[in-house]
Amino acid sequence: MTFINQLSMIPGVLVTQNELLKFEASISGRIIYATDRDYDEARAVWNGMIDRYPEIIVQCATAQDVVKCVNFVREHDIHFAVRGGGHNVAGSSVCDGGMVIDLSQMKQIFVNPQSRIARAEGGVTWGELDTTTQKYGLATPGGVVSDTGIAGLTLGGGFGWLRNKYGLSCDNLVAVEMVLADGRHVRASKDENVDLFWAARGGGGAVGIVTAFEYRLHPVGPEVMFAFVLHPASNARDALRFFRSYVETAPDEVSAMAVLGRVPHTDAFPAAQHGKPYVLFGAMFTGPVDEGERILQPLRDYSTPIVDFSGVMPFTEVQTMWDEDYPSGEMRYYWKSTYLNKLSEGAMDLLIERAYHAASEHSTIDIWHIGGAVKRIPTTASAFANREANFLIGVEANWERRIDDNCNISWTRNLLEDLQPFANGSAYLNFPGLMEGGESFLKKIFRSNYPRMIDIKEKYDPDNLFRLGPIEKYREDRS
Ligand SMILES: Cc1cc2nc3c(=O)[nH]c(=O)nc-3n(C[C@H](O)[C@H](O)[C@H](O)COP(=O)(O)OP(=O)(O)OC[C@H]3O[C@@H](n4cnc5c(N)ncnc54)[C@H](O)[C@@H]3O)c2cc1C
Repeated sequence: MTFINQLSMIPGVLVTQNELLKFEASISGRIIYATDRDYDEARAVWNGMIDRYPEIIVQCATAQDVVKCVNFVREHDIHFAVRGGGHNVAGSSVCDGGMVIDLSQMKQIFVNPQSRIARAEGGVTWGELDTTTQKYGLATPGGVVSDTGIAGLTLGGGFGWLRNKYGLSCDNLVAVEMVLADGRHVRASKDENVDLFWAARGGGGAVGIVTAFEYRLHPVGPEVMFAFVLHPASNARDALRFFRSYVETAPDEVSAMAVLGRVPHTDAFPAAQHGKPYVLFGAMFTGPVDEGERILQPLRDYSTPIVDFSGVMPFTEVQTMWDEDYPSGEMRYYWKSTYLNKLSEGAMDLLIERAYHAASEHSTIDIWHIGGAVKRIPTTASAFANREANFLIGVEANWERRIDDNCNISWTRNLLEDLQPFANGSAYLNFPGLMEGGESFLKKIFRSNYPRMIDIKEKYDPDNLFRLGPIEKYREDRS
């Protein structure tokens, strides 16, 4: 028996040479080791703060590859991470040592325009899915940046520009195909493996690896009215009051957010405004463009804007509007969140004061309005538990240099702590910081659904093979 260091940094893991060779031969995708030329590219994730060195990266080509990986890591007690689009802020799709089960090359998409259903494999990004479904004038609710993976975003919930009209990404799942801890590859829907389907919608991949997602599609675009306007923050409180009253009466067709930040130093903005505080109103109208123009106009007319990028544009363009602001691998990111039932005066004051004194000029505070279809789904219908709040607050620290890590992370944590008197005590799984907080963080995510999540975990994954959280935590737990 040979001790193969490459395969695990956990002491005591034994894999024979034969077993490894047999495993390699069974995989139809690609296997990448540290000695391969593209190893660094394959291990890199979106957050530049994350720098981890897996021993083996298996770029799966098929669901059967995923099955073989799951069986291999379980049988040999090898720790692992699962990768979709690689955009998790905590970097939970890559691990130090062990194996990355990487689905990013699984890119098949099928659209059935008659039944209005799309089936997309686990490595698809939102840009790829939107471009394909838009060929038929259809779309499903996704995120607001196109290179984010459908996998992680959908499994954790999924807030985007279609949410108030059609719900979260996970609300639009019709079925998933997933690999369970025991290696079975099953389909889950409202009629099959109902409890797995429940846990897949908001459970963040805690019960298995999803190899394919089936989404309900809706007629969208191809052109939509989109408001994207930066107002000066000279009276930011008044601007947020205006936003609050606007969304209170806006129809479900409007999914809106307000963002507090500072004007980027790029040519897209007037030089005199660079670095100055802004209040951004962003909103998409899911419906006829002329009606959208009328209904979104007040967001544009609120003041004399710094810049107004609003207009009638292709839905696919709306979906890429923020892409440039979130470069992959270059910047360091730490994002956390909480939910507010109401945007009180105290909460607004705190958000304004902190936004414009952030440690980095790239950081923002995002106020997502939640309404319409998201709220009509009962909390017990799926693992996603936070539906009653009216606002999701995303606190995004975005910065450039390692030396600034501590002050940016502290800025986010301090604000979250100070927001607690105004908040409802919960958090969004997909804005997880570094997934610190362990069980108390998970309780904030699943809230009243936590006991059912635990029951389903015990039924399908009693040894907790699929852990929510970074691999370091896994090691700590084992030692
Ligand atoms: C630039 C940017 C923009 C964003 N915009 C939005 C937004 O508009 N709305 C929103 O709701 N969220 C948004 N997010 C948050 C986003 O939802 C999460 O970062 C999400 O985890 C990304 O999914 P991924 O597949 O790209 O990431 P990955 O890092 O690949 O995976 C995320 C998590 O899911 C697990 N996972 C991945 N694939 C699978 C699978 N097939 N089966 C089981 N588990 C799996 C991973 O192990 C990991 O823990 C954004 C994030 C970024 C970085």
